[in-house]
Amino acid sequence: MALSDDRGHLACGTDLGALVEQVTRGTPPADPEHQQDCAHCARALERIRSVWHDVRGFVEQPVAVPGDLLRQVMSRVRSHGAQVSLPGATLGSTTVSAAIVGRIARRALSRSTASRSPRRWPSTRTMER
Ligand SMILES: [Zn+2]
Repeated sequence: MALSDDRGHLACGTDLGALVEQVTRGTPPADPEHQQDCAHCARALERIRSVWHDVRGFVEQPVAVPGDLLRQVMSRVRSHGAQVSLPGATLGSTTVSAAIVGRIARRALSRSTASRSPRRWPSTRTMER
């Protein structure tokens, strides 16, 4: 059963987002008297605390980065073919794969098209009539 309605409010009218902020940011309750006696708020807070506990556990897990990650990334970049020199370098030179430049340009064009479209998503012209 969902904790909140379509507008993000509990059955008692409390904003679920406010309870999430209360747990995740440690802010005081907006209405301590209500929260002390409300079964809806108590159930929501218990679930939020449980999920937040799990999230904190993941954050504290060490991330194992492969020792040769940089070599793998550079190998992939170099495998994309021709290199383009970027202007403006004051020390040495900077080059990037032409394929990467193409991808960045396509992404920028897609975002530009999306910002002009009344529909925000999906944003490609092929999706429109
Ligand atoms: Zn409540």
